[in-house]
Amino acid sequence: MRRGFLILFAAAMAGGQTQPETEAPLRRAAQRGHYRLELAQPPGPEIKARLEARGARVTGSLAGAGLVVEAPEGLNLEGLGVRRMRPFRPAEKLSPTLAEAPDGAYLVEFHSDVAPERAGQILRESGLLRLDHPDLVGCDFLAVGPRDRLDALAARDEVAYLFPASSDLLTGTRLVGCAGALGDGVPVGQYVKASGAWPANGAGPVELRYVFTHLSAKLLAATAESEIVRALDEWARYAPLEFSPAASASEARTISILFASGAHGDGYPFDGPGKILAHTFYPPPLNNEPLAGDMHLDADEDWQIGRNVDMYTVALHEAGHALGLGHSDQPGSVMYPYYRLGAVMSDDDIAAIRALYGSRDAAAPPSQPASPPAQPKAPSPPQTPAKPVPAADTTPPALRVIYPALSVVATSSDRITVRGSASDNVAVEEVLWSNSAGGAGTAAGTSLWSAEILLQKGTNTVMVRAYDAAGNSSWRAVTVVRR
Ligand code: ZN
Ligand code: CA
Ligand code: ZN
Repeated sequence: MRRGFLILFAAAMAGGQTQPETEAPLRRAAQRGHYRLELAQPPGPEIKARLEARGARVTGSLAGAGLVVEAPEGLNLEGLGVRRMRPFRPAEKLSPTLAEAPDGAYLVEFHSDVAPERAGQILRESGLLRLDHPDLVGCDFLAVGPRDRLDALAARDEVAYLFPASSDLLTGTRLVGCAGALGDGVPVGQYVKASGAWPANGAGPVELRYVFTHLSAKLLAATAESEIVRALDEWARYAPLEFSPAASASEARTISILFASGAHGDGYPFDGPGKILAHTFYPPPLNNEPLAGDMHLDADEDWQIGRNVDMYTVALHEAGHALGLGHSDQPGSVMYPYYRLGAVMSDDDIAAIRALYGSRDAAAPPSQPASPPAQPKAPSPPQTPAKPVPAADTTPPALRVIYPALSVVATSSDRITVRGSASDNVAVEEVLWSNSAGGAGTAAGTSLWSAEILLQKGTNTVMVRAYDAAGNSSWRAVTVVRR
């Protein structure tokens, strides 16, 4: 290894807690643990009350006829309509997409009753390094480390789900975080990928309605409405769905859209500016009419068009929930729980909506979602940014980091010189870098580039991005831990 550098993971493990903790019995204290309950039908509040009276804590919903409880092993289930009670299997807590996790970075979702201090301790014991991101919500933690630590982590009772972290999380890019759609009065975890579709109402497309119950004073009513309708219609491009205005929120099959501050009568108070921006109720039977499908937006956010907080971007994600979609594990998808301004439909989003509703004959060709989306059909105010001016050149530069050779390194030095190469079918215009711990600049050179970067104590996530003249870019990230 080069002078001053160690593989971080070795450092984290050597300096960490004693190892045997992960092999210790996973359910201490009278074998309490988290279990999945599969019921004959969606549990109402009285079933939940009876579970709690018998010593269980309802910590989540499986979207449909299922609950997650924290309970003693031999919980009395008599008369509750429970078909099966079983622990989570470690394998089902590992997202199938983890193999593609860039940079060995993960989102670790803990069960909703696990205290943050306990979650942090479990990550340390697992030999993973915890990173911060200002937009993390719910019981999500961001961690980096070697993939071979994940099996032991998934075996921990407190852990609910593990999936890849996006590069945006790693580089500290500001994102919209979503704590999940609401179902059944309890949180629905990342492990739920869909709640079920709205039932068909005839042979044609699935018809749904929408109504604007209370709009934000921060946007012109007509502007907010057209952006939200545009978001609904974007889903209808890929699946046979049809949206039309409703006369009132009490009509069945109606998505009622309202802006509200703080507590607003549904038991899920908003939290002021930042963090939670919106929440949406899954379709029936998980939620009853008229609440099913309703979309609530935090009136305390600075709602905007084409910049943060962008109305269309948030409405697009929330509309996915209103249609029954859970979260995607694929970074970059609209339905990934941490999405960025201007997110566009990915293959994964399109496959998910089609899994629920089938595909629309006249839909956009299925396998080209990565190309810039068509301009909106309806006349609408200025577009979301980040769409480069159309140009013939759509090929991003190829970018490589030569030094350091590992994507996560530790050092005692107060600086690091990151070096690499970049090439492009036309020409590399510039290579920019930024450090999550502070600082940004332009690298010296392009085809061979280097940047001396000052390091703060702790985690420095250095993101390097190469641009061509047409605005195409590609990035690489290196996490440098200064001891
Ligand atoms: Zn969401
Ligand atoms: Ca908020
Ligand atoms: Zn609400």
